[in-house]
Amino acid sequence: MFSPVSLGPLHLDHRIVMGSMHLNREDDPRALAAFYRERAAGGAGLIVTGGAAVSRAGAGGPNYLLINEPAAAAVMMPVLDAVHDAGGKLALQLFHAGRYAFEASFGIRPVAPSEVYSAFSRCLPRALTLAQIEDTLADFAAGAAAARALGFDAVEIMGSEGYLINQFASPLTNRRRDRWGGDPQHRQAFPRAVLKAVREAVGTGYPVIYRTSGADFTAGSSTRAESADLAVALARDGADAVNVGIGWHESRAPSVQALVPPGRWLDIAGGIRGALAAADVRVPVIGSNRINSLESAERALAAGHADLISMARPFLADPDIVAKSRRGESHLVNTCIACNEACIDRSLGTEPVSCLVNPRAGRETVFPLRAVPPPAGVRVAVVGAGPAGMQAAATLAEAGHAVDLYEREGAIGGQFRLAGQVPGKADFLQTIRYFTNELARLGVHVLTGAAPGVAHLARYAHVVLATGVRPRPVPLPRSGLLPVLDYRQAFADPARLGARVVIVGAGGIAVDLSRLLVDPGAPGGARDVTILRRGKRIGAGIGPSTRWAVLQEIRAAGVRTLPGTTPLEVSRQGLRVRDGNGAAALLPADAVVLAAGQVPHNPFHAPLAVRGVPCTVIGGALDASGLNAVRAFDQGLTAGTAV
Ligand code: SF4
Repeated sequence: MFSPVSLGPLHLDHRIVMGSMHLNREDDPRALAAFYRERAAGGAGLIVTGGAAVSRAGAGGPNYLLINEPAAAAVMMPVLDAVHDAGGKLALQLFHAGRYAFEASFGIRPVAPSEVYSAFSRCLPRALTLAQIEDTLADFAAGAAAARALGFDAVEIMGSEGYLINQFASPLTNRRRDRWGGDPQHRQAFPRAVLKAVREAVGTGYPVIYRTSGADFTAGSSTRAESADLAVALARDGADAVNVGIGWHESRAPSVQALVPPGRWLDIAGGIRGALAAADVRVPVIGSNRINSLESAERALAAGHADLISMARPFLADPDIVAKSRRGESHLVNTCIACNEACIDRSLGTEPVSCLVNPRAGRETVFPLRAVPPPAGVRVAVVGAGPAGMQAAATLAEAGHAVDLYEREGAIGGQFRLAGQVPGKADFLQTIRYFTNELARLGVHVLTGAAPGVAHLARYAHVVLATGVRPRPVPLPRSGLLPVLDYRQAFADPARLGARVVIVGAGGIAVDLSRLLVDPGAPGGARDVTILRRGKRIGAGIGPSTRWAVLQEIRAAGVRTLPGTTPLEVSRQGLRVRDGNGAAALLPADAVVLAAGQVPHNPFHAPLAVRGVPCTVIGGALDASGLNAVRAFDQGLTAGTAV
């Protein structure tokens, strides 16, 4: 991993690339420069920018950088200076969304090889004319020339993930019968023409990386062999590196969700690398997708899957991931947990991208790093060591305050400890590992199993109340002795539940619990599980990039999902309900679990306020609606800087 490598004329001193991420901050040069500066200073060898659209029609949203418009220079010059000052290298990604563009962005109907409806952007694109194809090639060439003139160290052509170039390569979206479509050779024509146009624009001595699709994961699209053939052709045509992407936005095979095991798709990059070797083409291959630690990157390199590893979200979670790992401080790396809640889900809309476990990401100018040692602060108590409390305590300690962090339970982590039990969410425990080590490094006094009283707390100069939530009570008549538990009790001791479990509620916690209970490895083994709710939306509150994948998984595992169902009574045999048609029914069960939301738990605020103790209430204790972890970490950061 820490050995040098060359992408054509571009020399890098290690093999970790920070992959492209659209940030929705491309209109703010100061924010963008600060964001990238920290990642370059944190050891990212080569950084690839978010997609820079080569035309308005090709933008993936209204906030995309438009590389061929005059404003691009003003945005990107400070970014280039910042990255170069910090010792990094920056590649511009040349991007065209094709049928994944949105008409609402610039009032332009999206374009594509053929008129094939896009379920992602919900549009029927216009087929490009022959003249428009030539114009598009010219746009790519102009974008590449602009990047070189501005001082970028390389360009990356975005040819995967179902965007325009990938659409030309696929029989699903390219139905043309002219020189740009038809058999696999003709479908390679546009991707290869883009590379040729870019190469001619930048010359032979300038690095051009090509991100191509190793597997589309979309029914009716290119075969794996066709994708490998294209990669070989691109390498032969002069790409200096082949970066292997997978999946389309319309794919029904999860690629970036937490339920995808880390490194799951690296064999696809390995397949491309094998195809290049078999064709005797020596071009470095960059592997990506679901690699969230340098240890797993090292394993992937050692296994021969790739020559370099591209990681994107892990650099949101921790800008110093490379530097820390290089210093032997992996235990201090804040690990990306693949929740997508503050990054991918936002990048699909217009909200600025950040990170759930690192709410500073993208807001480095709002919460600047301290250049001088902090002044001696005051004594602060933080009550509750869930996400909000952990973040607040760390931020307060960094600001120079003497912090005592109280946790009633025997360990820190709050709801993250529950989530960490769920199959596929073990990385949530990495967040607890990170804060355990980070709080120790910062000198926070962590007191677990401790329940301070009001008089004790009143001795502090400031108290941050992050006491969290309690399960929302659901008043259900009962006849018989069937066990009825709340979700925390169920998570704490799944073995108590019998073979058939009905969960009242179908939000994120209920879905997580169902995943745990149908897992053969769960305490007590796999169960028959039903989840229900009065409303129509199972998994409400789960982010859009994750919800479909999780629902697909639990249904495949046999979880019955019953929307529009009203719980009536717990009987000896199970739960009596009224179904969506108004008919009464019995759901046989050995236990009923209540997971129908939560209420704030905030016992200290009123008595402390009466005594005049300055308090800040954050996280679920302030607002339990939707139990939003992004909000909790964010409030922890804000509270920690406000004292
Ligand atoms: Fe990773 Fe979640 Fe942060 Fe995105 S928001 S970078 S998925 S931890």
